[in-house]
Amino acid sequence: MNQDSILVGCAHCGAKNRVPGNRVREQAVCGKCRRPLSMANRYPDGAVDVIDRDFNTQILAFPGPVFVFFWSPNCGYCRRMLPDVDTLARDYAGRIKFAKVLLDQNPVSGSNYAVQSVPTLIFMKKGRQVDRVTGALPRMELDRYLSRLL
Ligand SMILES: [Zn+2]
Repeated sequence: MNQDSILVGCAHCGAKNRVPGNRVREQAVCGKCRRPLSMANRYPDGAVDVIDRDFNTQILAFPGPVFVFFWSPNCGYCRRMLPDVDTLARDYAGRIKFAKVLLDQNPVSGSNYAVQSVPTLIFMKKGRQVDRVTGALPRMELDRYLSRLL
């Protein structure tokens, strides 16, 4: 799989289009209906790192569901969950966007969501929190929460 390509959902017909990362700045059109693709609807192929400054555009303004993983590299549970988060990001590519937020470095986002400890998992849809879990979840459980976002 090309790590640099992104998935973009067509706002007109709903088709998922794969656009190479180096062509994101060009005006791409939908492969199915040929209408222009809005890059605001893009789904990354893996989990993306989001910082305070980008929280609004990357997460709250995103039109589809978003899984937000507040974590810290010092936390053993977080480190054990990371591979699952990355795997799930690829499994759900084009359907759910996966965001990783380092709590220590992004205090504004943490405080906006009253994140007290890591890992904290927030399941969002159209900028609103739908579900929330404090603490690590095994992959099966994560899958269950993620499927409720679809
Ligand atoms: Zn289309």
